[in-house]
Amino acid sequence: MSAYTVRTRFAPSPTGFIHLGNVRSALYPWAFAKSRGGQFVLRIEDTDVQRSSQAAVDVILQGLQWLGLQPDEGPHHQMQRMARYQEVLAQLKAGGWVYPCYTSVAELEAMRERQMAAKQKPRYDGTWRPEPGKTLPEPPPGVAPVWRFATPREGSVRWDDQVKGPVQVENAELDDLVVARADGTPTYNFCVVVDDVDMAITHVIRGDDHLNNTPRQLHIFAALQATPPVYAHLPTVLNANGEKMSKRNGAKAVTAYRDEGYLPEAMVNYLARLGWSHGDDEIFSRQQLLQWFDLKHLGRSAAQFDEAKLRWVNAQHIKASSGAELAQAVTPFVHAMGLQPDARLPALCDLFKDRCDTLVALADWLRPYYDSVTPDAQQLATHLTPAVQPAVHTLATALAQLANEQRWHAEAIAQAIKATLAEHGLKMPQLAMPVRVLVMGQAQSPSLDQTLALHAPATVQQRLAVATIGGKTAL
Ligand code: GLU
Repeated sequence: MSAYTVRTRFAPSPTGFIHLGNVRSALYPWAFAKSRGGQFVLRIEDTDVQRSSQAAVDVILQGLQWLGLQPDEGPHHQMQRMARYQEVLAQLKAGGWVYPCYTSVAELEAMRERQMAAKQKPRYDGTWRPEPGKTLPEPPPGVAPVWRFATPREGSVRWDDQVKGPVQVENAELDDLVVARADGTPTYNFCVVVDDVDMAITHVIRGDDHLNNTPRQLHIFAALQATPPVYAHLPTVLNANGEKMSKRNGAKAVTAYRDEGYLPEAMVNYLARLGWSHGDDEIFSRQQLLQWFDLKHLGRSAAQFDEAKLRWVNAQHIKASSGAELAQAVTPFVHAMGLQPDARLPALCDLFKDRCDTLVALADWLRPYYDSVTPDAQQLATHLTPAVQPAVHTLATALAQLANEQRWHAEAIAQAIKATLAEHGLKMPQLAMPVRVLVMGQAQSPSLDQTLALHAPATVQQRLAVATIGGKTAL
């Protein structure tokens, strides 16, 4: 085994409920680490105390657990690492990498306005930056300074981004970043670097909204004499309207998809494909993803979320799941309808799985097996014509006989249906439709023999009796 271990991280800020765009930034580092025998670290970037919430952290943890993207390490919380940031800040101060700056907010604002008026890029002008031979102003009394990082003035910073290709930024473009505020709290870019160093992160795979932070972070890595990670900046995920997906424009929390009946395997498949490809493969398992995942095939342009495609992918995974797997997955949805599933559940899931694109839809199909039905009046009128009623009666009688003989299974039921059709000179749909409406509540279902076989014989008797006895007057 090599001494080098791939370590990736997902570093969400719990300032809103993570949505699918965010989760993709968890999936890729997870897949990369797991496909390389590495480790995936979870770090909660909760330094924005005003906007962070425990509820948002809970959605992160539940979402990752639901999708099977559990971290090997963490969650680390930045708020619990303050002492460490202070330690590293002291190190930077001692090394002369940072300097105190007393420029007030009002002065910064005035500076900004002057620069804008002169059509210059707004930036800190370096008043308090020590330079050889420069005399610094006298610090104003009683003012606590911020600490700025002395970015090299000359040269450039570059990295080989795994998505964007080589990126080079001139240092002259970067001003001196504040690494600690006047109250001593460290700033975002500084904490990220300390964490990525301490957590031995080898690959940073994150959204390209952080692209501008990377040159600044690379300078801090250099100051700490640490090897920077490999970077891959992922293009944005757009919503259906082509806008950047965000909570502000209606993106749903990831856990909403669990509640809407998506399978975690389908979500992983769909999200993996939203910005990464393996040839033309659209449907794949988690194992295949881990076999195939690489950074080379990350997409370079923005991906657009498409709910119809997600439903289609979900339907494919439902279809490919076993009855037993689906039984387990659908149980909470059946419970949510106030119904109690039983031992028939796996067989029922097998029977209906081809017709569903979510677990909610599957649970809905199961309702007639665990609840009473109210046949749709319109459909009853259409399908249960007086001409067909005697055939329904014949079938009911034949089915009662099967039940008595303990032959209640699909083959025997198919025989009884066939015999009834022959006796009454009817075609299958003429009999199957009204029977479905009576037993299932509506006219669509998989093959009638299998649909009936999974009902208790007494239930079928009782529902067909509505047509042959009481139903007559109603029609
Ligand atoms: N906390 C940042 C965010 O939620 C991510 C930082 C990073 O990945 O470096 O956007």
